[in-house]
Amino acid sequence: MMQLAIPLNFIGTLYREISTGLIDMEAMFKLLDEPQEVVDTPGAPDLKVGQGAVAFKDVVFSYDADRPILKGVSFEVPAGKTVAIVGPSGAGKSTISRLLFRFYDVKGGSIEIDGQDIRHVNQASLRRAIGMVPQDTVLFNDTIAYNIGYGRNGASREEVEAAAEQAQISAFIASLPQGYDTEVGERGLKLSGGEKQRVAIARTLLKSPPILILDEATSALDTHTEREIQAALDEVSQNRTTLVIAHRLSTVVGADEILVLKDGLVAERGNHAELMKLKGLYFGMWERQKAADAARDQLAKVLEAE
Ligand code: ADP
Ligand code: MG
Repeated sequence: MMQLAIPLNFIGTLYREISTGLIDMEAMFKLLDEPQEVVDTPGAPDLKVGQGAVAFKDVVFSYDADRPILKGVSFEVPAGKTVAIVGPSGAGKSTISRLLFRFYDVKGGSIEIDGQDIRHVNQASLRRAIGMVPQDTVLFNDTIAYNIGYGRNGASREEVEAAAEQAQISAFIASLPQGYDTEVGERGLKLSGGEKQRVAIARTLLKSPPILILDEATSALDTHTEREIQAALDEVSQNRTTLVIAHRLSTVVGADEILVLKDGLVAERGNHAELMKLKGLYFGMWERQKAADAARDQLAKVLEAE
């Protein structure tokens, strides 16, 4: 028995070593719930990441040939800066993040990172350089420690806990019966949208990528959770090139540049003060949000009085 067990065990280890790259890719696609469409050119070199400057140059894209989504979008995210994209649902905001991650190739124009067209480098190296906190985080059916530690191969428990602390989710984890060893996912404990997002933030903090994509959750979060998530996001985007797809306008005020995307084009661009002065689409979004907030406060008061 022993004689057989040792070689089998060895083969198992070898197999895992060989297939790790593949498994990681598969797991990542599952994680982000995206199809794999793009194939590397054989021998494509690694992306050489310097400061992590991102440039979209006249990018044209459609999923179906007869329905253009992006009709020539240009912008730059200088190294370490934050660019926010706002606009109506369906405008193509998430599409921009999918293109940067190269889930699809552009149909026209180009996307460059530190001067390199992302089509000319291999995808593994591209994705090592980018961290994505998606709108809907998919968790593995495993422990919460595994789900955070996935951000970096071989992360220690101390590193996982430090990341959880920074992502403002350590107190929640401490309150679970089995702490970091609590099983989560479909078959385990179901986490709320806000909790899952903070797991994704912790995972991204561990990965510590030079470039970050944040696709904010649309779901109406309570004010307390929103504040905690905002603090976690501020933490993760510090000193990183960040592209944030913003649903809550409060989060874009500090962005270096804000793009208002509409009908596949950048309709307005500038910082918060500049866009407010324009009194255009962005200004209108703020007015509507203010009205909505006021209505909510009023309702809260009425409910309190009852
Ligand atoms: P946003 O994030 O601004 O709400 P998206 O970038 O997700 O918008 O989508 C832009 C448009 O592209 C939408 O009309 C959407 O229905 C369409 N779309 C998104 N993903 C796909 C897909 N995989 N196939 C076809 N159309 C898609
Ligand atoms: Mg979206």
